[in-house]
Amino acid sequence: MSETSFADLGLDAAVLEAVTAVGYETPSPIQAKSIPALLAGRHLLGVAQTGTGKTAAFALPLLSRIDASTAEPQILVLAPTRELAIQVAEAFTTYASKFRQFHVLPIYGGQDFGPQIKGLRRGAQVIVGTPGRLLDHLRKGTLKLNSLKALVLDEADEMLRMGFIDDVEAILAKTPENCQRALFSATMPPQIKKVAQTYLRDAAEVRIESETRTVERISQFVLPVYAERKLDALTRILEVEPFDASIIFVRTKAETTLLAEKLSARGHAVAPLNGDLNQRQREQTVEDLKRGKKDIIIATDVAARGLDVPRITHVINYDVPYDTEAYIHRVGRTGRAGRTGKAILLVTPRERSWLRTLERATNSPMESYQLPSPADLQKMRVQQFETQLLAFAEDGKLPKAMALLDEIAERNDMDMAMIAGAMACWMEMAQPGALPLETPEALPEISTAPRRDRKGPPPGKKSFRKGPGKGFKKDAKPGHRKGGPKGKPAGKGGKPPSKRPAR
Ligand code: ADP
Ligand code: MG
Repeated sequence: MSETSFADLGLDAAVLEAVTAVGYETPSPIQAKSIPALLAGRHLLGVAQTGTGKTAAFALPLLSRIDASTAEPQILVLAPTRELAIQVAEAFTTYASKFRQFHVLPIYGGQDFGPQIKGLRRGAQVIVGTPGRLLDHLRKGTLKLNSLKALVLDEADEMLRMGFIDDVEAILAKTPENCQRALFSATMPPQIKKVAQTYLRDAAEVRIESETRTVERISQFVLPVYAERKLDALTRILEVEPFDASIIFVRTKAETTLLAEKLSARGHAVAPLNGDLNQRQREQTVEDLKRGKKDIIIATDVAARGLDVPRITHVINYDVPYDTEAYIHRVGRTGRAGRTGKAILLVTPRERSWLRTLERATNSPMESYQLPSPADLQKMRVQQFETQLLAFAEDGKLPKAMALLDEIAERNDMDMAMIAGAMACWMEMAQPGALPLETPEALPEISTAPRRDRKGPPPGKKSFRKGPGKGFKKDAKPGHRKGGPKGKPAGKGGKPPSKRPAR
């Protein structure tokens, strides 16, 4: 984590206000280094893993430099797929939420030209699009780039892998000579180097490298899961892992409280730990964890810095870290004082490449985490219920309770099994999942095959039609289970990507 704060970076006041409102605590390393360079108007080459916050690394400084009073396109972002274009457009909307006049327009293939042309006519300061369709608009004259101030090639490696190089170069040729340019990529294959050399001038280079450090005594696991099933996966992990205390890492302050509420509703002794708490409150939370008044803490990286609680047996990375350094710090919260620990990382399909990166960084293999099957889970829940039931059968209040229920049974002509059943249903309602009344669904499996195994079309061939990405079981659709994040659009890289041809 960087020590810089967003306020130190020189962002426009409205942009800073929006960032504060989303709950980002500190800039990620790629952001801390890219923002000043882009604010200064420099060209930039930014290389960092997926999930390290590259979108905000360019969106925040470039938004700080636009003229919100005119609706001409000033920032153009090229993205490889429809999904990514939409995500980036949404991010811009969020970061510009405090602007009075702001429009961003996503433009991608597979959608009618009509609404896009209408949108372009209405005007938008920021256009985010896939290369093929953008080029179509440039050729038709429906998109004009005379006022363009900045051009971003986002996810450049992916764009080249998908065979967009010719389109990208054609678009570059149509942008104003003095336009600021930035290229962001997760990897740095020779082709990208060439593009950078050709199109960037005196560019600032920001690379978030992975440092190697061993994490001893900590066994590391990875669980690939669709973004919208993360909560479900987490609750199962907490159900089967024999943890003493556990720390769960998320990205934002808001997420710490949200997740704490959700786990609390599921009966866990849990507290959030974030930078909004004052020193005293934070100390109190840590103290509660030490003494066993709480068993789980949901933390941001900053808030958990230096946390030393020997009881912590498990570190769960609910959201991927910003960089390997953050990961190493996170997992180092367990295995304290010579004990052993377990670290479990949840990755969404887009974030799978973290697996390799972390293995390299920590010089140790990551095992794939086996979630219990629905049948196993069911069995476990029955067992737990039975144990509880037997314990309560020795409760001192039992005779009184039995007498009371006898009366009710008699009055209503019910038998005892029915009464017990009704009470069990009642209990299940109050404490969902406490009773095995619903068979849990199997979570859809995702393979851990790294992204680079997915071959793009041969160069020059633009069509990239493929069903659900390789490694997604066709028959296992991610549904929504009761208690899951309801109908929420998948976060970054969440949904099973239907890689539509982006033209
Ligand atoms: P990348 O493009 O590097 O793959 P994204 O820009 O998609 O990464 O960001 C990944 C996630 O991290 C997003 O959900 C974003 O909202 C979140 N994020 C970005 N910057 C920060 C920050 N400074 N603090 C907290 N969360 C952040
Ligand atoms: Mg990105």
